Amino acid sequence: MTEEAGTGDQTTEAEPTGDPADLMERIVNLAKRRGFIFPSADIYGGFRSTYDYGPLGVLLLRNVKDAWWRSMVQLRHDVLGLDAAILSAPRIWEASGHLANFTDPLVDCRNCHERWRADKIGDSCPNCGSADLTEPRAFNLMFKTFAGPVEEDATVAYLRPETAQGMFVNFANVLQTSRKKPPFGIAQVGKSFRNEITPQNFVFRTREFEQMEMEYFVPPDEADHWFRYWLTERFNWYLDLGIPEEKLRLRHHATDELSHYSSGTADVEFLFPWGWDELEGIANRGNFDLTAHAEASGEKLEYFDQATGERYVPHVIEPAAGATRTMMAFLLAAYHEDEVGGEARSVLRLDPRLAPYQVAVLPLSKKDTLEPTALEVLGLLQPVCMCDYDTTQSIGKRYRRQDEVGTPYCVTVDFDTLEDRAVTVRDRDTTEQVRVPIDSLVAEIRGRLGR
Ligand code: ATP
Repeated sequence: MTEEAGTGDQTTEAEPTGDPADLMERIVNLAKRRGFIFPSADIYGGFRSTYDYGPLGVLLLRNVKDAWWRSMVQLRHDVLGLDAAILSAPRIWEASGHLANFTDPLVDCRNCHERWRADKIGDSCPNCGSADLTEPRAFNLMFKTFAGPVEEDATVAYLRPETAQGMFVNFANVLQTSRKKPPFGIAQVGKSFRNEITPQNFVFRTREFEQMEMEYFVPPDEADHWFRYWLTERFNWYLDLGIPEEKLRLRHHATDELSHYSSGTADVEFLFPWGWDELEGIANRGNFDLTAHAEASGEKLEYFDQATGERYVPHVIEPAAGATRTMMAFLLAAYHEDEVGGEARSVLRLDPRLAPYQVAVLPLSKKDTLEPTALEVLGLLQPVCMCDYDTTQSIGKRYRRQDEVGTPYCVTVDFDTLEDRAVTVRDRDTTEQVRVPIDSLVAEIRGRLGR
């Protein structure tokens, strides 16, 4: 029986592809073929591990960022948003310690002249195997540029290597304008830039990427409590959006791994095809950042509690996540291969909140007679969610195309629709199909999407 007959087919899970390299290859391939992620400057042969997000990638990435914003800002009363400048003053990075310390240990292979991050390789060159490596030297990861027409020391500016400093330097501005009282947070989503020595693993590590960071300012004696609170909150965010529990873990840093100012750091890690690796770091940063900027700027960065007469420098809990890296983890976790009615398919089982399109409207045939009704249905659904509209190829092929990009629901307009004003709604995961009157379609889709 084909799906065109109008009923759902049995799905059976195929054996997972055993080879991790294979999974990465499939994802990279799918990302390019279906318009999620293209190599940047593709027509010129690509540009140094930079990537462009295509029509589907921009939707998925935006949904990841929106889901973060919703949970971190919209659904709370104690966190405010910010969008600070990317181009930033050297004094910020001097005070934060980035100019002196934001370095990776760089080694050169004397044999093949490749360069590596010493802490990420063993005693030999991963390219040629030679053990003839130079002594590590500190390489600063910040991109330096010039603000203004003259290239001189006075005009030096940096592309921010993290969004966090924007929150620290605006602490007093936000406190005064919002009248919040610790505990409260400032959240920001945006681009950051690091001149990584070895960008790698597709968009896992790139020189230009997006972060989702929040600085939560708390009374000093509450820092431990809030650190533990944010560990749980952040871990659950990934679970809630569909990362399976067995692919997620919280790894506490050992004491010798901690930055000198941090009294606790834990990473949320995902089981990538190459092993466990970081999605997000959650750190108890003490009062290091506010104190450093207060000293360097001469501004008071503290909280004065008028009720108690108490004055203190808040401590900071920082959940710092990567949006682009997290998007890739969602893609990897969602990718499945199964069989529908004896035919192999690949399907992205993305949470509907993350899927690029929530609904695809598909007129059964290209004949003009179906188009007005199909466009009417599309017009009803577009205000509710992101919709695709596809008229090409057979309906079975179009279902597969939507499965492959994670669209949870297909709405098919057929010749019966012209008689009974009803459409077929097909579910991506079960492939079950039900007939729904157009008049109740919006309510049906809203109900399924929980909107
Ligand atoms: P790493 O040790 O992997 O270089 P980090 O611990 O320095 O990363 P943070 O400074 O804590 O990373 O940044 C917070 C988050 O930003 C990371 O967990 C990651 O998701 C993301 N991130 C950092 N660097 C990159 C990068 N080069 N490309 C993509 N995402 C990144």
